[in-house]
Amino acid sequence: MPSKVYFIGAQVDRFDYQYSVEGRLEHILEKIDLKKYYSKDELVPIKMHLGNPGAHHTIRPNFVRVVIDQLKRIKTKPFVTDSVRLKAYEYLEVANRMGYNPMSLGAPLVIADGIFGFDSIKVKAGKLLKEVSVPTAIYDASSMMVLSHVKGHIDSGLGGAIKNLAMGCVTAMPRGCDWREGGRGKMHFQLDDLMSWNKDLCTFCGICVRTCPLDAISIKGKAFLVDEKSCWRCGRCVRVCPEGALTVPSSMENFSVSLAEAAKAVLSTFKPGKVFYINFLFDIQPECDCMAMSDTPVVQDQGILLSDDMVAIDQASLGLIAQAQPLPQSKAEGLKIKKGSDVLTMLHGKDSKTQIEAAEKMGLGKSDYKLVEI
Ligand code: SF4
Ligand code: SF4
Repeated sequence: MPSKVYFIGAQVDRFDYQYSVEGRLEHILEKIDLKKYYSKDELVPIKMHLGNPGAHHTIRPNFVRVVIDQLKRIKTKPFVTDSVRLKAYEYLEVANRMGYNPMSLGAPLVIADGIFGFDSIKVKAGKLLKEVSVPTAIYDASSMMVLSHVKGHIDSGLGGAIKNLAMGCVTAMPRGCDWREGGRGKMHFQLDDLMSWNKDLCTFCGICVRTCPLDAISIKGKAFLVDEKSCWRCGRCVRVCPEGALTVPSSMENFSVSLAEAAKAVLSTFKPGKVFYINFLFDIQPECDCMAMSDTPVVQDQGILLSDDMVAIDQASLGLIAQAQPLPQSKAEGLKIKKGSDVLTMLHGKDSKTQIEAAEKMGLGKSDYKLVEI
């Protein structure tokens, strides 16, 4: 039987709150029996990506507020969370600037692995990763709500629920260990410990230096130096280098499969049926929200998907994007991508389905889905 995915379309033609996207989100969350997933007095982490300086396409706070109000309606204790992506102190300020704070959300905002980003517990993972470190605020929770902004990703084609659960629920630098022991960087660096730098391509522009969240890169004259100890292998410097002078020692396939492995490990910390997913298909831009910029959307807003199946919701997201008309003045137009194509795969030359297929093979859900329109 296909997995059920609820769909709230972005297009609205009636001037009434109940027909608005927000109104329909509220309605469906009342209709779905949330008590099936969450119990009274349960602390429920709402896993989000909170953005980055320069990025402006994250999930709108008013939608998050609707989710929180509905979780409160059934007497749970929700809190918004993410693991450290920038240093936590700075990341909280980014969240505030994106409009996520206790006042707008009506719930606390907590960094899942603590203000220093070390608080995590090791969990067994698959063949590629062996183990991952899950932030304590997620590990100790008995349930979770995962809110994902659907967009492209330079290394995996698609950034959706699987990626949010995988990269976002793994600590970058576990306490007392280095990134090799369960750190998030293992997803990027599987074939070697070091990125490679091509001195013939490097123009010493300094973009990588400014992008590194840990100030781990320095350029002295014609020398390119990385502080190997503090570098947590996030791969951002590699992605922003305009010359392709930096390379991550991984393959696209390994990266995408490791996302599924990490997602499986994170899910293993919950009893079955305790995680629910909401994908937001607005501002579907080419890049991840951890880049220091946002680009114009590649297809029109599609709406919101809701499901308890992580594989189905990401597959349904790709299905909606494929049916949409690629937008003018976007990277999709520049690449002459036609309607019906796998836009995100074509943007980055990385197969957006690999992570979905891997997750399905690992038994994390079904790509066969049934869309239920609200
Ligand atoms: S971004 Fe690339 S080209 Fe610029 S300094 Fe860094 S490695 Fe060199
Ligand atoms: S991978 Fe690059 S950007 Fe990330 S921490 Fe290391 S040096 Fe900094």
